[in-house]
Amino acid sequence: MENNHVTALEIDLNAIAANFNYFKSKLHNSTKALVVVKAFGYGSDAVNIAKFLDSKVAYFAVAYIDEGIALRSGGITSPIIVLHPQKSNFDKIIEHRLEPNIYSLNLLRAFIETAKILLLSNYPIHLKFNTGLNRLGFSQHEVQQILPLIHNQKEIQVKSIFSHIAASEDLNERPFTLQQISAFNTISEEFKNLSPIPLKHMLNTSGILNYATEAQFDMVRLGIGLYGFGNLASETKKLQNVLTLKSVISQIHTIKKGDTVGYNRAFKATATLKTATIPIGHADGISRHLGNGVGYIYIQNQKAHIVGNVCMDMIMVDISSIDCKEGDKVIIYKNQQHIEALALAINTIPYELLTAISQRVRRVLKKS
Ligand SMILES: *Cc1c(COP(=O)(O)O)cnc(C)c1O
Repeated sequence: MENNHVTALEIDLNAIAANFNYFKSKLHNSTKALVVVKAFGYGSDAVNIAKFLDSKVAYFAVAYIDEGIALRSGGITSPIIVLHPQKSNFDKIIEHRLEPNIYSLNLLRAFIETAKILLLSNYPIHLKFNTGLNRLGFSQHEVQQILPLIHNQKEIQVKSIFSHIAASEDLNERPFTLQQISAFNTISEEFKNLSPIPLKHMLNTSGILNYATEAQFDMVRLGIGLYGFGNLASETKKLQNVLTLKSVISQIHTIKKGDTVGYNRAFKATATLKTATIPIGHADGISRHLGNGVGYIYIQNQKAHIVGNVCMDMIMVDISSIDCKEGDKVIIYKNQQHIEALALAINTIPYELLTAISQRVRRVLKKS
């Protein structure tokens, strides 16, 4: 669909490449890379990010089936894991050559049944184990029920087994994480007689940074790190900024003492000020919690704080001490540090700010 909106998210592909290489440099040469491009590539542009990396990765992963279909429609040829499939999706998953993550006995039995009906052979599947996150995955004790189900089952082939760390970014949780890794090692032992032996993988972005020695296995699953976020200021500093959210000033108002700005008259002027109205709002991912002075954008490289409530399609910002005019460019998300500061101010994490950027915001790819 054509997008003519002035508000645009710029995506720097050179920075993507640099960040990808940075994480690769932390790993053995033989370790494979799976890039997670769920939720529109963390709110960016999954298809174009995947196109750019298609020849460099072993796998892509998405959360839901339609995200996988979008990648296939975009011409992506690498294998794609659907992390959260449902029984009702199986036919479509197979039709689009997507690889299901099987996380329960119920799902495993159902997939094998579908594979038999469709006369598939060696259809790639992945098995996820719960080692402590308690979200999705087989329990360790279910291994003894899985093995007979997949034994000599020509319709399917277990391509990989994996688990997910609950607190890879939090070194206070290191003992718990090591317990998770140990549990996964025990589970892996049970699959070593499969032929071919499935790939093993456990690490997300902060896992790569904190547990590459203990849990690198055969592959890692890189997500937010690709966009320049290391989940720790010192790591983020070593990464390049990928995403810049830009817009323009639609209109400037002079607000006199006693006047109010925005819905519910939430802001009341105690002195004269100047505001700029910017075409982005809570429908585009600018949380209402950022209203009333909490959040800020950049105009002429100076901070302009949000005045009053965030509207659905607009914000008003204070430009009293900034020399600017209608039509001037503004930066809504400048870099990782800006996004981290805004997320922190409203008790959330950069993941949520990024994935909230609405689809009506135009995406612009930058590559030198
Ligand atoms: C989202 C996700 C990842 C990527 O996590 P990041 O912290 O963004 O690197 C990896 N594995 C699974 C199972 C996920 O759901």
